[in-house]
Amino acid sequence: MPRALVLQSAADPEPTVTEVDRADLPDGDVLLDVLHSSLNYKDGLAVTGKGKIVRGDFPFVPGIDVAGTVAESASDAWQAGDRVVLTGWGTGEDRWGGFAEQARSSAEHLVALPDGLSAEDAMWIGTAGFTAMLSVLALEDHGVDAGDGPIAVTGASGGVGSIATALLAAAGYEVHAVTGTETAHDYLRGLGASEILGREALSDDAGGPMQKGVWAGAVDSVGGTTLATLLAQSKRHACVAACGLAGGPSLNTTVFPFILRGVTLAGIDSNTAPTALREEAWSRLAEAVRTGALADVKRTVIGLGDVPEWSERIVAGETVGRVVVDVR
Ligand code: NDP
Repeated sequence: MPRALVLQSAADPEPTVTEVDRADLPDGDVLLDVLHSSLNYKDGLAVTGKGKIVRGDFPFVPGIDVAGTVAESASDAWQAGDRVVLTGWGTGEDRWGGFAEQARSSAEHLVALPDGLSAEDAMWIGTAGFTAMLSVLALEDHGVDAGDGPIAVTGASGGVGSIATALLAAAGYEVHAVTGTETAHDYLRGLGASEILGREALSDDAGGPMQKGVWAGAVDSVGGTTLATLLAQSKRHACVAACGLAGGPSLNTTVFPFILRGVTLAGIDSNTAPTALREEAWSRLAEAVRTGALADVKRTVIGLGDVPEWSERIVAGETVGRVVVDVR
C-alpha cells in the first residue's frame, strides 16, 4: 500500500502520513510510481487549510506536481518504466496529487521527462518554473527580442518570478526585477537581474493609462495595479505575460496601450496548456538545467513528513526558491 500525506477536511486538514488503498486512487489509465513532488503556495494553502484549493472529496491527497515513472499503463502511449511529469489538469485540486508514493493519471495528461532531466530537477522547476517558461515562450512568440529593451518581472522573489528572472537573464534579456522583499535583492542579482525595483514603483494608480513607454515585455505574477501600470508603461509592440494574482485579481485599464502601441496582453494558464506546448516548455526547461541557467535558483529537498511544517512556512512567505518533496 502506498504511503501518502492525507488531508481530512478543507477547514481542519489534520495532515497525516499514512498508507492509502491503491483502489482509492482516482480514475486514470496510467499508474505512476511517484519519485518527487514539490511544495507550491497552493499546496501550502491546501495543507494548512488556509485557502480553498481542494475541490475533490475528502480524505484527499494534495500535491499539484508529480514526477516519477510509469508502473502500469492501459494506454499504448506509455510503457512501464517511462519517466514522466504531471502538472495541472486539476492534479492536487480536483484529483489526488503528488504527495504519495503512487498516483494515477490520464495518459494524455502526462509529458515525457526530457533526457537528462531528473525527477528531482523537474520538481525543482515544478508548476512555478513551467509557468515561467510558458511566459517566456509567450514573449518570444510575440517577437520580443533581447535587444528590444528592459523586461519587468514582478513578484520576482517568488517561484514563478525567480525562475522567469533566471531564464530571461540567461537568454540575454535585460531583466528589471520588481520585488517587495528587500532581503532578496542579492539573490535576484545573482539570478541575473540588472535592476531591482520596489513594488511601489508599479503600484501608483495615479499615473494614468498611457505613460512613458519603458518595457519591451513583462512577466507579471502580481496582477491588479501592477499589471495596469505595466500596460501603461509598455513600449510599442511590447508583450506582457499575465500569469498570476499575488497582488489581486482586478485589472483597471483602458484600450489605449493596445490600440495606440500595439501592446499584447498574453494570458498564461499552466493548468490546461495543450500537450505540444507542454512538451516544448519542458524541453526548453531541460536545456536551461543542462546549460546551468537555473543553477542559482535555490532548492530545498524535504520528505513527505516535513510537508505540514513547510506548508506553514510557504504560506507565511518564509521560503526562498523552490521546495522539492522526496516522497520515497
Ligand atoms: P509565490 O508565493 O512563490 O510568489 C509570489 C510573489 O509575489 C511573492 O514572492 C512576492 O514577491 C509577490 N507578492 C506577494 N504578495 C504580494 C502583494 N500583495 N503585492 C505584490 N506582490 C506580492 O507564488 P508563485 O510564484 O508560485 O506564484 C505567483 C502567482 O502566479 C500566484 O498568484 C499564483 O497563483 C500564480 N500562478 C499561476 C499559474 C498559472 O498557470 N497562471 C501557475 C502558478 C502560479 P516579492 O516579495 O518579490 O514582491
